[in-house]
Amino acid sequence: MKGKTSIITGAGSGIGAAIAKLFAEQGMNVVVSDIDLKSANKITKQITNKGGKAIALEADISKPAECEYLVKETLKKYKRLDVAVNNAGIGGAQKPVGEYPIDEWQKVIEINLSGVFYGMHYQIPAMLKNKGGAIINMASILGQVGAVNSSGYVAAKHGVVGLTQNAALEYAKKKIRVNAVGPGYIKTPLLTDNLEKEQLDAIKELHPIGRLGKPQEVAELVLWLASEKASFVTGAYYNIDGGYLAR
Ligand code: NAD
Repeated sequence: MKGKTSIITGAGSGIGAAIAKLFAEQGMNVVVSDIDLKSANKITKQITNKGGKAIALEADISKPAECEYLVKETLKKYKRLDVAVNNAGIGGAQKPVGEYPIDEWQKVIEINLSGVFYGMHYQIPAMLKNKGGAIINMASILGQVGAVNSSGYVAAKHGVVGLTQNAALEYAKKKIRVNAVGPGYIKTPLLTDNLEKEQLDAIKELHPIGRLGKPQEVAELVLWLASEKASFVTGAYYNIDGGYLAR
């Protein structure tokens, strides 16, 4: 992976931050991107303090122009793009369909689904210039099954899985591999900021392994998918969920 360049969205926190750090440890140039520049700067500093190569860029993935800017700035700084991880996402409202606020629906679809499309739309032409690359899109176990009161999130993540398959088919012969990852519940601010301890304890029980996942565990799978070790893997959805979907 040494010397390869990657963009990671939502890299200021949680799973994205763990991926950024692991990629940097492999000697990759890492573009740490987030809507929150302060958090992106913090992670970038942690990487560069350890001798890693990284820059922080602010971008809201729900805005196509900002996704385009992200790729342009990456090419300006590192001259190429090899790996993109479309990871940024939000939880969205917790309401049944009949009460789900329309503006919340639009927001979660725009960030969690359209944001992945906008990302790939600009990343793919850049990868074609260096005759290949790898894209990993962050879906969820909720890209495979439903969850009460989470229609926006569930619909967006199912969409990410289909979008991943489509892009994989379109670019397989052009040597761009596109895969999706589906974490179970992972201990990040997305969960800990939004749920009470009792809710977290109940969620743990849904995972046969008996605990929440760690961001670093998801990062290891993403690294493998990004690497040449996964050279025959495209259009796939890999769950990493402590057995959640096996029940
Ligand atoms: P997190 O809240 O810790 O990190 C998400 C990051 O995305 C934050 O830094 C946030 O600022 C950024 N972000 C939010 N909206 C953005 C936007 N419009 N543009 C750019 N950046 C934006 O969350 P996390 O748990 O690390 O989640 C990362 C991804 O993993 C998400 O796509 C999430 O849906 C997915 N996921 C998480 C879990 C889990 O249990 N934590 C499970 C399955 C899937």
